[in-house]
Amino acid sequence: MSCKLTQRFVPGYLDGELDLSRTIEMETHLQTCAECAQELERLQALRAALQHGALAYAAPEGLRERIQSSLRASTPRETTERASGWHGFQFLRPVLLLRWAGAFAVLALCAVTAWQFLPGLRGPSSDQRLAAEVLASHVRSLEAGHLLDVASTDQHTVKPWFDGRLDFSPPVEDLASDDFPLVGGRLDYLEGREVAALIYQRRKHFINVFVWPGATGASSPQIVESRQGYNMTRWSRGGFRFWAVSDVNAADLAEFVRLLESRTAR
Ligand SMILES: [Zn+2]
Repeated sequence: MSCKLTQRFVPGYLDGELDLSRTIEMETHLQTCAECAQELERLQALRAALQHGALAYAAPEGLRERIQSSLRASTPRETTERASGWHGFQFLRPVLLLRWAGAFAVLALCAVTAWQFLPGLRGPSSDQRLAAEVLASHVRSLEAGHLLDVASTDQHTVKPWFDGRLDFSPPVEDLASDDFPLVGGRLDYLEGREVAALIYQRRKHFINVFVWPGATGASSPQIVESRQGYNMTRWSRGGFRFWAVSDVNAADLAEFVRLLESRTAR
């Protein structure tokens, strides 16, 4: 993982929001890169200062009790009973909890082993995992300041920007004449590698197109799916894998993909 991406993910890392593979990639990078480790320390110090400094305000004990009692008063009786029964559960005792943790660790190990040695198990779901990753990257990119690393509507600016930042040169097309203007590019991270993200606009919506070299040069037809209200299309062509994702409607995304595919086929 590059320094730029590591530093982008540091806040998420501090908040424990990254998935396991990204966390491992980050920690590996942080062990070897003083600059990024420093960035992490800087944010940790900032967080500590905010928590312990004059800006921090601890709510008075009385407020906590008032909130709890008003919650109790407004909670239906059945739920309250179940909640209080929960505290009586024997397995919450520390010793037993440790045993449960042990059993869980064994189970997790079995799952990881099975996943590694039985390709059939992960075959059908690898695209599903990637789809979830693509969607998460799309949503993350829409957070303030995350969409663009290079802002330009000119494909001759965006394409060279990736040179030296990636180990491949992604095909970059502008579709402004078809009302899908290119607005820029970004480095992103999928399947354990750095990928190009090209950003297009349709009215007020953004379309992220993730591009990276395929394992084989084979082309594959479009696969369309919808996930959590977002439309996604993936295909392979010219040795590249493409994933387009957006909240534009399915017809607009289909039109966009058709245009992009016909341009990259030339
Ligand atoms: Zn670094």
